[in-house]
Amino acid sequence: MEYIIKDTDIVVVGAGHAGCEAALAAARLGASVVCLSVNLNAVAAMNCNPNIGGTGKGHLVREIDALGGEMGLNIDKTSIQTRILNGSKGPAVHSLRMQADKRRYHEEMKKTLENTPGLHLMQDEAVELLVEEGKIVGLRGRSGGKYLAKAVILATGTYLRGRVFMGEVNYPSGPDGMQAANELTQSLVDLGFEIQRMKTGTPARIHRDSIDFTGMEIQKGGPTVPFSFRNIGLEREMLPQIECHLTFTTPESHDIIRRNMHRSAMALGDIEGTGPRYCPSIEDKVRRFADRDRHQVFLEPEGLTTKEIYVQGVSSSLPVDVQLELYRKIEGLEHCEFMRPAYAIEYDAIDATRLYRSLESRDIEGLYMAGQINGSSGYEEAAAQGLMAGINAARKVQGKEPIILDRSEAYIGVLIDDLVTKGTREPYRMMTSRCEYRLTLRQDNADLRLTELGHEIGLVSEEQYEGYRYRKEAMEAESLRLSKIQINPTDGNNEILAELGSAPIKNAISLLDLMQRPELSYEKLKVFDPQRQELREDVVEQVEIQVKYRGYIEKQQAQIREYKRLEDRRLPEDLDYYAIEGLRNEAKEKLADIAPESVGQAGRISGVSPADINVLLIYLETKRRREHELGSAQ
Ligand SMILES: Cc1cc2nc3c(=O)[nH]c(=O)nc-3n(C[C@H](O)[C@H](O)[C@H](O)COP(=O)(O)OP(=O)(O)OC[C@H]3O[C@@H](n4cnc5c(N)ncnc54)[C@H](O)[C@@H]3O)c2cc1C
Repeated sequence: MEYIIKDTDIVVVGAGHAGCEAALAAARLGASVVCLSVNLNAVAAMNCNPNIGGTGKGHLVREIDALGGEMGLNIDKTSIQTRILNGSKGPAVHSLRMQADKRRYHEEMKKTLENTPGLHLMQDEAVELLVEEGKIVGLRGRSGGKYLAKAVILATGTYLRGRVFMGEVNYPSGPDGMQAANELTQSLVDLGFEIQRMKTGTPARIHRDSIDFTGMEIQKGGPTVPFSFRNIGLEREMLPQIECHLTFTTPESHDIIRRNMHRSAMALGDIEGTGPRYCPSIEDKVRRFADRDRHQVFLEPEGLTTKEIYVQGVSSSLPVDVQLELYRKIEGLEHCEFMRPAYAIEYDAIDATRLYRSLESRDIEGLYMAGQINGSSGYEEAAAQGLMAGINAARKVQGKEPIILDRSEAYIGVLIDDLVTKGTREPYRMMTSRCEYRLTLRQDNADLRLTELGHEIGLVSEEQYEGYRYRKEAMEAESLRLSKIQINPTDGNNEILAELGSAPIKNAISLLDLMQRPELSYEKLKVFDPQRQELREDVVEQVEIQVKYRGYIEKQQAQIREYKRLEDRRLPEDLDYYAIEGLRNEAKEKLADIAPESVGQAGRISGVSPADINVLLIYLETKRRREHELGSAQ
């Protein structure tokens, strides 16, 4: 007998990193939301590395926070070590990374979902999508009932037809011993979705007391800079901060791998999925970098109340007996005891080029996809997509236009544009090198770029908005104040500059312009500025970055204006590319297949050349003129 369990605005399938952000955003924008998970113990589960952030990923977390998302707040509550990566390099690649207490991360996020009005968390497995006349109307749960909805967001991670591999052994499973979701894929196939198999892997977790840490390099945390802008400048209650350790594999451990490569699930040909290039297994590393006699291994505690240690850098799909043998050849791990073996997991993902940049399906109206199911890899990448899918699904059911972030506005824009324009055949990881405007899109200014928008759409609270206004106005006021302080080329001033290791000035110059000199800083220049008030570190950081990189940023702004010129050139979805003379056949096929939303996006489709874009622009201009003439003739 058919029965309806819930009739709601939005159903989110998955309470992982994507699902949590999606459900929270949609509920906070006023939609009624049901969030499903095959197991509520998997809410915001960190199935792999116990950390949030890092190169490129830290930028995503800051952008999620600037838009009113949850990940930044959740990791600030549960972090047990904070580090800034690339701190010695330019601000474009500065990346915050925090070690998390995994259990607390899960509990805090689950608590937030449970306490969010309009959001209903439910343990059930989605087994079939319900569609009428090309529109989503809900789904069927394994529990037997239906969930009716005006929009559905799939954020199923690594669970769809999940299969775990450890050498010759493999079996259906989700990550970390969770059950796999084996039925929903067929429903997607029946609806015409192209499914691809992907794979990822994780290392073993070993018992802390079985490790000999003597002789290892200690990795201490740095200043506890918060991820959330809402915590900047606030006294925060911090969890005890821990140390990580650095050790190395040995030639002996590499020999064990080489001798047993034939027993890895990859070598046995059991795994068909494509793995992440930037998170290679130890087997891949030994094979690809055969000349290296050791690889770095980071030992990262999984939490404060567990002895489990995550062995970063040694993920594997070798059999467990071989894993034990090779782990015990790693310095300090000679007597290590496994608590969880390493494994690879294969799962289903869709071809994301069948999505709009709103993450809505092009084929099923009201169906959205976010996270690993789109071919990305990483908690942060998933959360960023979840946030945008949640915002856009809520706006869809409220009859509003979707929010699209483009490549010049946010790393989130780069992530989604790469996935839906180019697609991916391997798990896609965000990196600063993927972002052409990275000097403008820094982690330190995510709020200055995005919080106004987050407030406009109703996701950023008044309190957060006030915090942002304070930072923005304080930064602008201080820059203005410094620009009005003139330093004259007197002997006295030049002596001071000499003491600061800087060249004398010949003409009067503002204090702000003087700060542009690499050897000078806001701190150093206080000798010329006795009236200054105490300012928050983050505001000073903004003032300094803006003036020191002014030239580069202005140059990039010019590039962005050129980019926007083509990005804002919309393309009708029903444009007949086969009718455009002069376009190459490959371009016709690709353009017709992906149906880009703008000329800019058309130019990023692989197989479409700049010459094709010129042909397209001429065609559009001719068409516009003809329609104009026809219009004025009538
Ligand atoms: C073994 C392993 C290794 C990894 N290695 C890396 C790595 O090296 N680097 C990296 O960046 N990332 C890695 N990850 C990836 C990282 O864990 C994911 O990118 C991230 O968790 C994806 O988030 P998500 O929200 O898309 O999915 P998940 O966090 O996997 O959450 C999926 C959610 O969907 C639910 N669900 C699934 N199907 C259904 C259904 N039919 N009905 C109801 N609920 C459903 C699940 O219960 C779960 O709540 C790894 C993951 C695993 C499992």
